[in-house]
Amino acid sequence: MRDKANIVVIGTGGTIAGRGETSANTSAYACSVLTIDEILAAMPDVSSLANLRTEQLLQTGSENFDNEHLLKIGRRVSHVLKDDEVDGVVLTHGTDTLEETAYFLHLTLKSLKPVVVVGAMRPPSAMSSDAALNLYGAIAVAAHRSSWARGTLVVANDEIHTARDVMKRHSFKLEAFCSPYGPLGYVVEGQPRFYRLPLRDHTVATQWTIDDMTELAKVDIVFGYGALDGAAMAASSSNTQALIYAGTGNGNVSQGIVARLVEAARNGVHVVRASRTGNGVVVRNGAQPDDDYGWLVVDDQPPQKARILLMLAMLSAQDDRGALQAAFYRY
Ligand code: GLU
Repeated sequence: MRDKANIVVIGTGGTIAGRGETSANTSAYACSVLTIDEILAAMPDVSSLANLRTEQLLQTGSENFDNEHLLKIGRRVSHVLKDDEVDGVVLTHGTDTLEETAYFLHLTLKSLKPVVVVGAMRPPSAMSSDAALNLYGAIAVAAHRSSWARGTLVVANDEIHTARDVMKRHSFKLEAFCSPYGPLGYVVEGQPRFYRLPLRDHTVATQWTIDDMTELAKVDIVFGYGALDGAAMAASSSNTQALIYAGTGNGNVSQGIVARLVEAARNGVHVVRASRTGNGVVVRNGAQPDDDYGWLVVDDQPPQKARILLMLAMLSAQDDRGALQAAFYRY
């Protein structure tokens, strides 16, 4: 055991790498302009937590991240973790899709070492920026022995979340991140304190390994609203291999699109009922006869997480709907 952990901090852009013209500039600023070295240079105390090495993997807003970006990030993190001299990884990331990348890593990395994904709601230049404290907390968590074997973690606002559950639920406030079952713990004075553990399978217990992946399926999300009709749905989903339908309430499907989704499932497109509420479960054969229609349900996954999970499940069970449904109940 080393005196101080060796942590690799990988930068990908986002608000944590942003810069405003004035300190009052908390929402309209230039995103993804500071390098990871520039961000850390303004945080001298961080060297007491760990020996740091940095890498600039990407420099862009996470709203631009596609499947290629996910694969690139996953492969790089996996490669770094294989180095015996590395004890953990911190990935800085835009907050918009941070939960998706973190969940992807949570399901595909094959390592017990801590991986912490972190962003900020205000750039380092802003008044009351959360950038430095979030990054400090993320490094503290990655460097601590108690963070091993927890899957991918997200640190925000003094809280430690599991990548499976965490969601960005506010567009500008500092307390933007939350998990439906609460955080796993807190970061207190540079030390993680865990109170709960994720029960669903992750990292070494999943059937997917990032190193083997070359491509992910095209899975789209359609956002439901009252009386959404077939034409509107067709406009937002074409050439897709699977469709997550973010239905109202308990994954309800408006009458105007039931027949279209039944036909899509018959034609081999996987149709998955989710809920646009962001909380709770979608009950199989509840609001709709999923068995009859050949549809799937997400269990408790929000649409954006369900998309990640389904892309992975389709790697191992392309057309086996029973196996795809089982993945939603296992992970
Ligand atoms: N464009 C940003 C992103 O990369 C905005 C959000 C942020 O990082 O806080 O997601």
